[in-house]
Amino acid sequence: MRSADIPANAGARLTVDLDAVVSNWRLLAARAAPHAGCAAMVKADAYGLGAEQVGPALARAGAKVFFVATLDEGIRLRRAITQEIGVLEGPRAGSEGEFRQHKLTPVVNSLVQLSTWTRSGGGRAVIHVDTGMSRLGLSEREVETLGAETDRLRGVELAWIMSHLVSGEVQADPDNPLQLARFRDALAKLPKAKASLANSAGIFLGPAYHFDMVRPGAALFGLAPVEHAPNPMRTTVKLEAEILTVRTIADGRSVGYNAQWRANRSTRIATVGVGYADGYLRSLTNRGRGYIAGRPIPLVGRVSMDLVTFDVTDLPEEASRPGTPVVLMGEELPPDELGRLAGTNGYQMLTGLSRRYARRYIGSVA
Ligand SMILES: *Cc1c(COP(=O)(O)O)cnc(C)c1O
Repeated sequence: MRSADIPANAGARLTVDLDAVVSNWRLLAARAAPHAGCAAMVKADAYGLGAEQVGPALARAGAKVFFVATLDEGIRLRRAITQEIGVLEGPRAGSEGEFRQHKLTPVVNSLVQLSTWTRSGGGRAVIHVDTGMSRLGLSEREVETLGAETDRLRGVELAWIMSHLVSGEVQADPDNPLQLARFRDALAKLPKAKASLANSAGIFLGPAYHFDMVRPGAALFGLAPVEHAPNPMRTTVKLEAEILTVRTIADGRSVGYNAQWRANRSTRIATVGVGYADGYLRSLTNRGRGYIAGRPIPLVGRVSMDLVTFDVTDLPEEASRPGTPVVLMGEELPPDELGRLAGTNGYQMLTGLSRRYARRYIGSVA
C-alpha cells in the first residue's frame, strides 16, 4: 500500500513492528542453518501486514527468496525488492510474458503448467509435487511421467523441487513422516535439484524436514508454529481503537442488533469504531475481548459492520472515556487467541486486517 493510501484519520490504528518480523525471521533462519536457507512467505500482502514494508525489511536482514500466491502480488512486490520471488499459483496460459517481464519465478504445479512454461521459452522454475495436500503440485503419476520423460524439462532451470505439509503444526501427526517419505520418493524419481518442504511448523519438526530451504510465513508474523506448545515468536501487530462514546444503560436494556446481549445491572457501554468490515469477525459477538491499560473488558452484543461494544462497568470512569485506547489485538490478545475466540485461526485474523486502519510501521523502516 502506498503511503498516500494509508488512512490518517481513523480512530483505529494498526502498528506493525518490522523489527519483530525481522527477529522472527532470524530465529527461524538460525533453526534451519547451516544446511538450509530461509525464504520468506509474503503472500496475501505479507499475511495482512503489508508486503511492500515487510519485503524490504526482510531483504535488508538477508532474506534471498520470497514467495507470493499470485502473479499480481509478485508484480507488486517486484517494485519493492530485487530478490528472487516465487509465485505459487504458477503460470496460467497467457501469463508467461508477465513472469519474464517482472523476473518472477513460477512454481509449476502440474504437467500442463510445465508445458505452458516450456512452450513459452522455459527458464528458471520451481516444481511443486503433491505429497498429500491434493490442491497444487504434480501428482504421483505426473512425477512418474516426468521422471521417465525428463526432456519435458528441456529449457527449464530447476530452482527447487518443493512440497507442502498438511498438518506440520501437529507434531505427532502421522501425515508428517508419510509426506516426508513421499517427498523423498519424488526427489529420487526426478532430476537432481535443491529441495524445500517445511513451512513454519515444518521447521520445528526437525532437520530431516529442512532440506535446502524452509518457507515460513505464519511464524514470521508471530503466529505459533507448534500446536499446544509455548510460542517462541514475537508478536508483530498491535491493533488499538479509541473509544468513541460511553453511555450508561439501565438493567434490562439490550445492546446492538437483534439484542444479542442484555444488561443485568446498570452498565457502562463503550463503543469502538471497528467492525466486521475491518476483518474483526462477526463470530466474536459476545465472545471477543478488549484491553484497556492491560485490563480485560468483555465484548458485549453483536459485532456490527463498523462498530463494536464493550462492557466497561468494572473500570474506573476516568480509565474508560471517549478517546481512551482499547487494544483489540496485540501482546495482551495475540492473533492466535483472538482467532480461537472467533472460531477460526490467527492466519485469518491477520490476513483480514482492514485497509481502513491507520497504519504505522515501527522498527526497521527504510
Ligand atoms: C503459505 C505457504 C507456506 C507458509 O506456511 P506457514 O504455515 O504460514 O508458515 C509455505 N509453503 C506454501 C506452499 C504455502 O502455501
